[in-house]
Amino acid sequence: MTPEVVFIGLGNMGMPMALNLLRGGFSVIGFDLAQANVDSLVAAGGAKGIDLAQAVKGAKVVVSMLPASQHVQSVYLGDQGVLALVQKGTLLIDSSTIAPQVAKELGVAAAAKGIEMIDAPVSGGPFGAKAGTLTFMVGGTEQGFAAAQPYLQKMGKALYHAGAHGSGQTVKVCNNMLLGITMIGTAEALRLGVANGLDPAVLSEIMSKSSGNNWVLNSCNPCPGVMPESAASNGYAGGFGVDLMLKDLGLAVENSLATKCSVPLGGLARNLYDMHSKLGHGKLDYGSIYETLGKK
Ligand code: NAD
Repeated sequence: MTPEVVFIGLGNMGMPMALNLLRGGFSVIGFDLAQANVDSLVAAGGAKGIDLAQAVKGAKVVVSMLPASQHVQSVYLGDQGVLALVQKGTLLIDSSTIAPQVAKELGVAAAAKGIEMIDAPVSGGPFGAKAGTLTFMVGGTEQGFAAAQPYLQKMGKALYHAGAHGSGQTVKVCNNMLLGITMIGTAEALRLGVANGLDPAVLSEIMSKSSGNNWVLNSCNPCPGVMPESAASNGYAGGFGVDLMLKDLGLAVENSLATKCSVPLGGLARNLYDMHSKLGHGKLDYGSIYETLGKK
C-alpha cells in the first residue's frame, strides 16, 4: 500500500512533525539524507523511503521540512523533482523557512501543472513540533489551505492563511526578524542590569510586569540561571540555532532590498549574529549572543 504522506527532511523539526502525523493515524513514508533519521521514523511505525520518485507518484500529500531555499528547490524542481513526478490531486506542503520569492515561484509552477502547493512555515521550535502546538503561517490558495487542514491540525494548534503563494514565508521573515532584534535588545538590557550589580532574575521578573515585557524574556531568557529550563541554563544547547537565525535575518535583509523597505535594526541584528557565528557559536542557541555582548 502506498503511504498517504511522503515526508522529506526528518531533522530537529521534521522528525517530531512526521511522528505526529503517524500518531494522528496517517501512514507516513520518510526521506532524509541521514539514514539514521529514516531508521528512527521506521522504528516508530513509519515506512522506509527508498525510491522518492516511486513514493511521491502515489502519495496524497508531500510535506517537506528542509534547511533552506536551495534544498527545497533541489527537491521540487528538475526532471526528477517532486513537481515533475507527482500526480494531479496531490497536495504539496513546504514547511521549511525559505525566501518568499522562491516559495511564490514554486507555488506558481505547481499551479501551472494543476497541483496545489502551499508554503507553510512554522513557529514554535522543536518543543512545539514535539507537542503538536506549532503555529502555521500559510501562503497559497483557499483550497490549498482547506485541503491541508487535516494534516496541519495534527502538527499544530494555530493555523493561519496569510494570503497568496509566498505570503506564509513573508510572515515568517517578519516574525523572525522581530524575534532576532528582541533577543538582542533583551540581552543588552540584562547585561546592563548585571553590570550594575542587579540580580538578572529579579530584573527579569520586574521587566516582565513592566513595559519591557516580551516573549524572549519569559520564554527563552538568554541569561544563564534565570530560567532553569531555557537553553541559556543548559550551555545554550538545543533551542534555536544562531545560524538558523542568521539565515532568517539574511532573508529579511534580502527581501528588504527587493522591496526597497528599510530594516535598519534587522540589518544590524543580522551583522551581530554573523559576528557571533564567526566567533564559533553558530550551532548554539541564538540567546548565546548574551555571552558575546558581555565580552570586555
Ligand atoms: P535540520 O537541519 O535539523 O533538518 C533538516 C533535515 O533535512 C536534515 O535531517 C537533512 O539531512 C535533511 N535534508 C537536507 N537535504 C535533504 C534532501 N535533499 N533530501 C532529504 N532530506 C534532506 O533543520 P531543522 O531545525 O529541522 O529546520 C528545518 C527547517 O525548519 C529550516 O528551514 C528552519 O529554518 C525551520 N525552522 C526551524 C526551527 C528550529 O527551531 N529548529 C523553528 C522553526 C522553523
